[in-house]
Amino acid sequence: MRRLAPQTEEAVRARIGYFRDLGIFDFYRRDCASGETSLADEPELELAAEEAAPESPTMPRAAGPVPSLSILEERGAPVAPKDKTAALEAIREELRDCQRCPLAKLGRHTIVFGDGDANARLMFVGEGPGADEDAQGLPFVGRAGQLLNNMIAAMGLKREEVYIANIVKCRPPQNRVPEPEEAHTCSPFLFRQIDVIRPEVIVALGSTAATYLLGAKSPLAGLRGRVHSFHGSKLIVTYHPAYLLRDPNQKKAAWADLQIAMRELGLKKSS
Ligand code: SF4
Repeated sequence: MRRLAPQTEEAVRARIGYFRDLGIFDFYRRDCASGETSLADEPELELAAEEAAPESPTMPRAAGPVPSLSILEERGAPVAPKDKTAALEAIREELRDCQRCPLAKLGRHTIVFGDGDANARLMFVGEGPGADEDAQGLPFVGRAGQLLNNMIAAMGLKREEVYIANIVKCRPPQNRVPEPEEAHTCSPFLFRQIDVIRPEVIVALGSTAATYLLGAKSPLAGLRGRVHSFHGSKLIVTYHPAYLLRDPNQKKAAWADLQIAMRELGLKKSS
């Protein structure tokens, strides 16, 4: 049997471990025509079904195509809470000391992965970490984070009950808006987190989050006040808490947006 290069073997092992963390144990192997391959060359490796290779001890033949978590979601298959936590940890592990985009070398101290309940019904997505978040490794811990905590409390929830993450996981210098290259490189990790958590409702905080979740740039005013969808979750757009700190007059409008989220979650309005 032809052996893979050590680096490729390690990458395959890590990918298989990731799917096992999700509770997926059956894999197909597809033979390569010739030469060495890497996961980058073979992005469909874990999902290749049609051209299944003979059974092997480490990769037994499955009865059908190996489902991705998104497919499981469509089928409504339950995912055990511990599997969700493990799946999130597998994504965090894959990031490690991520150098995939320029933000890695522009003064970041920590990668702010995301924080909260892996089984959250409600998820908030912001733009990117600021100085406090970069220092603590947690999203929304500065003044804007305090306001977000108040918004969550006003909805009748605790911060620990929701999940919070950003479009990019490293702090842009001077808190500038992430460049498209940075956002497009980092956001797939966020999308995988969303696919694991499968929240019923996502609240996009601000224009950057709305742009990359909806896949198109539009004025925030035109996106607010209605329910969009993202990967099977309901998506509601509102102002970023940092913007609300600068213009408190918009808090009333933001509260109206949060009430849409509450309605979708079946939460009662506080009197
Ligand atoms: S922003 Fe995301 S893609 Fe860029 S270096 Fe940080 S973790 Fe990696």
